[in-house]
Amino acid sequence: MGETSRLPMESRMPSYPAVPPLLIRFAHHMAGGVQIELIRYLAGAGGVAMVVWLAGRLIAHRRIQTRRAKAAEVARELRQSLWTIMVFAVVDLLTVALAMTGVIRIAKGPADAFAVGWQVLALIVLHDAWFYWMHRALHTRALFRLTHLAHHRSRTPTPWAAYSFATGEAVTEALVIPAMFLIIALLAPVQQLAVFIFLGHQIARNAIGHSGHELAWSGFTRNPWTGWLTTTTHHDLHHSEGRYNYGLYFTWWDRWMGTEHPRYHDRFEAVATRTPTNVTQPVA
Ligand SMILES: [Zn+2]
Ligand SMILES: [Zn+2]
Repeated sequence: MGETSRLPMESRMPSYPAVPPLLIRFAHHMAGGVQIELIRYLAGAGGVAMVVWLAGRLIAHRRIQTRRAKAAEVARELRQSLWTIMVFAVVDLLTVALAMTGVIRIAKGPADAFAVGWQVLALIVLHDAWFYWMHRALHTRALFRLTHLAHHRSRTPTPWAAYSFATGEAVTEALVIPAMFLIIALLAPVQQLAVFIFLGHQIARNAIGHSGHELAWSGFTRNPWTGWLTTTTHHDLHHSEGRYNYGLYFTWWDRWMGTEHPRYHDRFEAVATRTPTNVTQPVA
């Protein structure tokens, strides 16, 4: 039996001797990054959008704004978010390179529950601090138009606005991830489960913050046990009015720096005290 008959397919397939292995690995990691970021976005933003849509009438009285987002606005949020996913995947390559070269130490073997716990908390607290100051910087005259205007085109945000960023903002939003891993890795190898939980929490809180409906209960923002967490009203006010409420997960930085919306509690209570039968208060 001749060579050709033994390997008919292989003999006819073109070979790519000119493609360097590094480029193949780059393409492989890029494709993987796009896939992971896309799944996370669709699960988080899509999941929250689905809940809001399914709950429909049940939560209609908790809609924060009277204005409704137009279909074209949702399409723009989706388009911009898909572009952000590409940018995230490129920045993820940096994280992969840092991990592969051992600069960021990654824990091997089964997850260590204690390490996962403190790393999730550390990542959330660090990310919140970074987001507050980065967000304030993006609101300066020098940077706003170039980097952050795209996100603020959503005056009535929907969950799909979670990643609706201009390229400049997408890069700064993404770079914090390898930076935080570097900090964590100074203390202990990074736990992959901690990263997974942190990123899941990130997209969930992000999408809920843009969901346009306040589902927290009356008294939530003033209660010492819950008032340190941001609400959907908190970020919705940032979109409808700007200038205040720059925080992400916690109200700490806005309170420490005096940037909390002066009527945040009132505006929250105006929505949170509504029931399906008493929708009498004016909405924002
Ligand atoms: Zn902003
Ligand atoms: Zn936003």
